Amino acid sequence: MSVFEHPSFDNHEKVLFATDEKTGLKAIIGVHSTARGPACGGCRFWTYESSADALNDALRLSQGMSYKNVMADLPIGGGKSVIMKPAGAFDREALFEAFGRAVESLNGHYITAEDVGVSPVDMVSVRKQTRHVTGLPEASGDPSPVTAEGVFRGIRACVRRATGSDDLSGIRVAVQGAAGHVGTYLCGHLHKAGAQIFVADMNVDALEKHKAEFGAVIVDKDNIYDQVVDVFAPCALGSIINPETIDRLKVRVVAGAANNQLAMLEMGAELQRRGILYAPDYVINAGGIINVTGEIRGDYDTAWVQQKLVNLEATLGEILDRAENEGRPSNVIADEMARARLEEAAASKAAAD
Ligand code: NAD
Repeated sequence: MSVFEHPSFDNHEKVLFATDEKTGLKAIIGVHSTARGPACGGCRFWTYESSADALNDALRLSQGMSYKNVMADLPIGGGKSVIMKPAGAFDREALFEAFGRAVESLNGHYITAEDVGVSPVDMVSVRKQTRHVTGLPEASGDPSPVTAEGVFRGIRACVRRATGSDDLSGIRVAVQGAAGHVGTYLCGHLHKAGAQIFVADMNVDALEKHKAEFGAVIVDKDNIYDQVVDVFAPCALGSIINPETIDRLKVRVVAGAANNQLAMLEMGAELQRRGILYAPDYVINAGGIINVTGEIRGDYDTAWVQQKLVNLEATLGEILDRAENEGRPSNVIADEMARARLEEAAASKAAAD
């Protein structure tokens, strides 16, 4: 398994492989950039088929955090960690404490938080070993509601472009991963705005709540791509826009919370070619990290968080304007903007050092 030659390696500043025999910890922490501050991004707890899969995730996700954080104009860098879920029985508290020791060994270059499969309670275990952790229950807490609000704003902005109106009543939205943390809050926003919701999740039983509360239509998880709807909102895992799924989409907009939705960069051009508006994932799913940054700043201020969500919508608007005017895919424009801002930050840091 290569690291420096890895296709997802992007001059990451640090990649830490951490193991702990006693607890079964196998974790990878990717510190992509600290040009704008400590690398900050969540910890994913997932059943990986191989350590190569885990490394790929850590490299891609940590780079994505740099892009996300710089596009949201946050005073932090980009990093992310993954923990490979042990195959047999394990002591969850001890495992997350061991992970906390790995985070501590980076001396504050990386600050962790929740991601898929991780709860604020796990972060309490991490906190026993390091102070470089956010998203604790007594502080900013679960970032998902704020992420969902940002995604909702992103969907509404895209619908405005597609229909000329902010009104979501009757707009049909297919939510993949609807039973998850973000998916559930997003469905709440969409329902309140009058949208008609189609939901899919691995956890089908949990969707009964969505049916009862939001009038959602439950769809088989394998058929979610085939729904004739206005918006596809991926809120489960990445790489779901790929050569196998793209021709199945019958939507005007793709906008959701999942990180790394496009399996490869070219998928952005393919969406554009099909007349589908794509809201770059890391631009509209920054609500959670904005909330966490509110905690890191030490003076958690709801008004600051709300203003950042408003700014997020403006940044999305700038990207979509450029995509339309220049006839280029929105993901390419967003990546270019993020890289330019990161290079600028790195140059300022180098000049200051
Ligand atoms: P979650 O684990 O709570 O929810 C994910 C949901 O997706 C689960 O209900 C799971 O059953 C479902 N799922 C998994 N595979 C599926 C499949 N093939 N088809 C249908 N459903 C499937 O995670 P979350 O915190 O809600 O995050 C969702 C996505 O948003 C992730 O990609 C995450 O990285 C991203 N994200 C989350 C936040 C946040 O604040 N939580 C912030 C930014 C980005």
